[in-house]
Amino acid sequence: MKVAEPPELTELQGLIEDGRSWFDIRELCEVQCGQRRFPVHSFTLGNPSLDVPAVGFFGGVHGLERIGAEVVLAYMRSLLMRLPWDTVLREQLKGVRLVFMPMVNPGGLWLGTRANPNGVDLMRNSPVEAVEPVPFMLGGHRIGPGLPWYRGPRGEPMQPEGAALCALVEKELLSRRFSLALDCHSGFGAQDRIWFPYAYTVQPIRHLPEMHALRIIFDQSHAHHRYVFEPQSRQYLTHGDLWDYLYMRATEDHERIFMPLTLEMGSWLWIKKNPRQIFSRSGIFNPLIEHRQQRVMRRHIALLDFFTRAASSHEHWLPDAAGRERHRAQALASWYSEVVKKK
Ligand SMILES: [Zn+2]
Repeated sequence: MKVAEPPELTELQGLIEDGRSWFDIRELCEVQCGQRRFPVHSFTLGNPSLDVPAVGFFGGVHGLERIGAEVVLAYMRSLLMRLPWDTVLREQLKGVRLVFMPMVNPGGLWLGTRANPNGVDLMRNSPVEAVEPVPFMLGGHRIGPGLPWYRGPRGEPMQPEGAALCALVEKELLSRRFSLALDCHSGFGAQDRIWFPYAYTVQPIRHLPEMHALRIIFDQSHAHHRYVFEPQSRQYLTHGDLWDYLYMRATEDHERIFMPLTLEMGSWLWIKKNPRQIFSRSGIFNPLIEHRQQRVMRRHIALLDFFTRAASSHEHWLPDAAGRERHRAQALASWYSEVVKKK
């Protein structure tokens, strides 16, 4: 029986062919999946100088959540189509580096699993241990690869897909004074969420004032947006989060600002509007009807573009010393009041 190629893999191939003359395209690693081998690609665009800020977009970490890869691919396609004529975009690219890893886990996408082909959940596989209790199973476990949220065997190196993501972040993002990252997922829940670290503790990150300042410029410039912007720890804690790991690496240098965010697109909404989705082949984490998918795309592509602008113009919204104190107080009050009370 011939299995149809997932459309995301076809589009990835299309971007490699059509984007060759604009993007710098690299093969970061290869993943064996049954009879097939899948290369994992990165695409970069814009000014390679380490003096300019960078923004990275990641998708498909969880193979099941295809809409995450689709949003990144759609943003890349939109940029590619604008490059031949859009002088504003070309001007913008002189001052920023764009990094894409649209399909981190192609083997999982091919198999229709959250985990990679080894059964490991890449977002539970970093060496970070939670310091407070995590939810049973969901927070990451070492029982075995047959169960979701498996962290991988203790003491083993990171899975190749996660290691490739970390190497790319180190090379392209952490090599700069300022960078942002957005990792696109979909999950349970009715709302679209934008999460920032930590996932391993309820304590705030050092760059809480910067995160709050970013949220404020987003609220102000997208007045009717429906995203919930919050630390992941407000929802649940986990072991092994890759962005916790990379954020901690980044803060080893006090001069560096690295702001990793995760987009968690709410899929309850889609299910409520179309209960058939639970039984559909493409699964519950993906919108079923085409016009709904188009709406999902439109909304989130505006978000991705916001992050590119925020990275390009970071000097104009990052708070100064006095602003940092004000933002920190506001951020603690709106996100960490329970944590502060408990202390
Ligand atoms: Zn996910």
